[in-house]
Formats: sequence, C-alpha cells, structure tokens
Amino acid sequence: MTKPVILTGLRANNDLHIGNYFGAMLPTIEMAKSHVDEYQINMFIPDLHSFTTPIDHDDLQRQVWSNARLFAASGLPLDNDDILLYRQSYVPAHSELTWILDCFTGFGELSRMTQFKDKSQGAEDVKVGLFNYPVLMASDILLYGAKYVPVGDDQSQHLEFTRDIAGRMNNKFNDLFEVPYEVSKQHEFFGKGQGLRIMDLADPSKKMSKSADSDKGVIFLTDEPGAAAKKVMSATTDDRASVNYNTIEQPGISNLLQILSLLRGHPIEDVETAYKGQSSYGDFKRIVADEVAEFLTAFQAKLADVNDDAIKAAFERSEVRANEQANATLLRVQQAVGLRQKA
Ligand code: ADP
Repeated sequence: MTKPVILTGLRANNDLHIGNYFGAMLPTIEMAKSHVDEYQINMFIPDLHSFTTPIDHDDLQRQVWSNARLFAASGLPLDNDDILLYRQSYVPAHSELTWILDCFTGFGELSRMTQFKDKSQGAEDVKVGLFNYPVLMASDILLYGAKYVPVGDDQSQHLEFTRDIAGRMNNKFNDLFEVPYEVSKQHEFFGKGQGLRIMDLADPSKKMSKSADSDKGVIFLTDEPGAAAKKVMSATTDDRASVNYNTIEQPGISNLLQILSLLRGHPIEDVETAYKGQSSYGDFKRIVADEVAEFLTAFQAKLADVNDDAIKAAFERSEVRANEQANATLLRVQQAVGLRQKA
C-alpha cells in the first residue's frame, strides 16, 4: 500500500519570507518530522513556475539552492526515503501533463483566477505562462495523487481548480486521478480554521509577498535580524492607540498579533489577551521586533550548518523516485487520452 501524499511547492523567484514559512513550509515540515510513518511528504521547488513573473535568470540556480537550504534549516529531514525534495523541471512529466490538461481547461475558467487578475493588472506584457500557472500547479499535485496540499490562503483558488480539473478528467476517463481534499478539510487536517495570510508590514492591505515592489514590509528569513526588527518598528498601524485583533479595522496591529502568535506557537486569542488595550504601539512593536530578531538569529544559525552535499544527495534520490511515480501517472493519462496503447 502506498501512503497518502502531503505535497507543497514554493517558487524560487526570491528569498522566502515568514509568510511562506508559516503558511506553507512549516505545516509540511512538521508533518515530515513527526508523521512520515503515515504519509509520504513531497516538498519541491517549482522552478518552472519561477519565471511566470520576470526574474533574473542568471540567478535562478543560486535561488533554487538557497530555497532548498531554507527548507533544510527549517528542519526538513533529508535522509528519509519517504520525504522527497525535488526540482519540478527535473521531472519532465510535470510539463507533459500540463499540456494534456490544458486541452481540457476552459479559457474562461483560467481568466477568473484571482492571482492571474492581480498579477496581470497593470502589467504591459502579460505572458501565457502566468495565465497557465494553475494548470502546471494542478499537474504538480495530480501526478503524485496528493491528498493534502498545505498552501497559504492566496493559493486556495488554485487548489479548487485542481479539484475541478481532476473531477472533470475522472468523469470523462474513469477515475484517472486521486482528488485532493477540499480547502476546508485541508485546514482541518493542519489544525487551522483558515488559510494563513500574513500581511505586508508597510501596507497591511496587501499580503506579504516575495514579489512585492518594496522589501520594506517583508521579513525575509535571510534578513539581518536588526534590519528585520527595524521593519517591525516602522510597520504601518492606525491611530486608535489600543491593541486589538480586528483585521478589518486594525489590519496592521492585527498582523503583528498574528506574527507574534506564530512565533510563540500560541493561539492568537491568548496573544491578544496578553496585550489587549495596550496604548503604546511603540512598546508593543518593540516586543514583536525583539521576538522576530530572536527567531531569525536562531534560524540563521541553523542555516549556517546546512550541508550542501546532503541536499544534493536528497535531490538525486528524490528525483529518481519522483520520476517513477510521476511517469506512472502520466502513462495512465496518456493511455486514457489515446496517446499510448492501453495495457
Ligand atoms: P509569494 O507570493 O511571496 O511570491 P509564493 O506565491 O511563492 O509566495 O507562495 C509560496 C507559498 O507560501 C504558497 O503556499 C503561498 O500560499 C504561501 N504564502 C505566500 N505568501 C503568504 C503570506 N503572506 N501568508 C501566508 N502564506 C503565504
């Protein structure tokens, strides 16, 4: 019997930040550390997704390795056969399945994707790759029959799209794919009420993003701790002079409470109770800034100890296994659509 698969990917288009860390990396890595007896864990770098928005191509290799090091520093075990760490482009089946799924995907369906609308808005020269992004993501998930896909809130729509296309193919071709669980079940599984969305410190109406125009509101895992503390101290707040968790009325302060709750591993209600009504935002920010700096100092000490040979070995071992699994699914699909003789 094969184990159920938990799978997530993080694009290598820039260094990763605390939103990526708490939203997608940590839930996956915690499962990898404590539940690998029950699940196969796939943590991969969607390098083909990296240039759906413009990047410096000369820097992509460095970035891919940097992200793998960040996974290792976050505690991803590198030497377990059921924990796969791989690069998407090293498994050609991802691209091949994408083309096939493209031919069963509606233009209108992809045009409604919020991420596409957001990222293409105002852009002069919108690329087909950005439009097609969710189909490649669906292939990433369906090739391994992943049931659980921990992603931040912004990716929920793409997960729903994956379920739709899988269901459509299953109706047409008789149960080709395992369908991942719906978003609410995913949250239940990972012990959360909803997908996480850490906001930009400088503009708390926007999510913290590695593709943001400015770094001022983004805490990168590689930020110098003192510089990150400064970003917290200059976070945008409001003029109410009262700490409360209210994401609509006080998005900046609520975001800082959220960050503190994640750093401490305490429920947000407990953190809110501890600081509720505090009138000095400066004092409150100092507390968050110090904890952010402490977290980064500890994280970066682990990062300095990461062994590149262990990463290389994990890539090589995992990419063999990923190709075996992905090719088996691809063959089933090729047979179903008539590209290969049925067995
Ligand atoms: P970014 O938008 O920063 O470029 P990605 O789109 O590569 O990040 O996202 C990688 C993963 O991190 C996805 O699962 C995404 O949902 C999650 N993620 C990104 N930003 C945040 C955030 N601000 N809060 C929580 N999760 C996030």
